Amino acid sequence: MSEQRLAIVTIDGPAGVGKSTISRLIADQLAFTYLDTGSMYRALAYELAKTQKATGKSVQELVQDDHFVEQVQALELELLPPLQGEEYGRVRIGKQVLGSELRAEEMGQLASEISALAQVRSGLTAIQQRMGAAGKVVAEGRDTGTVVFPLAAWKFFLDATPEERARRRIRQLRAGGAECIDEAALLANLLARDRADRNRVLAPLQPAEDAYLVDTSLLSINEVVNEILQHIRSHPL
Ligand code: C5P
Repeated sequence: MSEQRLAIVTIDGPAGVGKSTISRLIADQLAFTYLDTGSMYRALAYELAKTQKATGKSVQELVQDDHFVEQVQALELELLPPLQGEEYGRVRIGKQVLGSELRAEEMGQLASEISALAQVRSGLTAIQQRMGAAGKVVAEGRDTGTVVFPLAAWKFFLDATPEERARRRIRQLRAGGAECIDEAALLANLLARDRADRNRVLAPLQPAEDAYLVDTSLLSINEVVNEILQHIRSHPL
């Protein structure tokens, strides 16, 4: 007998594919909780960078501490909704609330670097599984369908060409008021992060075997949302 499928939607894919906006809309439509796993990697990267500055220890040294995984699992992490007019949610980590500082290119890069480490992944994966234990979540990230929630009932993998993803990110930055954007550097960073995320040994970015693939290159946000909702509705639990 096959294992019970869980009332969980997973949406994985590379940087800049529109996962956050789409996942939030899907969660609203289904009245599910939105679980943005990328923000958790960014928040932990931010914390590690801060501790590194304070202690002079390298990230490698910090994660090799015997208690590191327990400490991560014990972190008080809460995902908060975005402020009005902002696209991404915030993260409360202990008493601190992190928002725009998590969105800097360097924080995406650092999150990608630390996300290849076993101790980091096992700490955060456990928190994510705890957050999703009651079901009714839309989880978004790189490995939510493959590793975090392998029994999720509805798995999606979104993709788009790197050029299109870079264009979307540039439009987003402009809309946020950025003026001088180094477009070539942005595309190069995106390609480097893709490469690192796809080629790492642990939980690499790849579609789950049972994921439904959507190429969003030529689709609007609403078209993608409708396609996903239609697929969910035609495959009830
Ligand atoms: O999605 P976002 O760009 O915020 O994620 C930042 C980085 O965190 C990704 O490039 C990836 O390396 C890492 N990540 C991950 N697994 C997830 C979500 C994010 O490794 N489930």
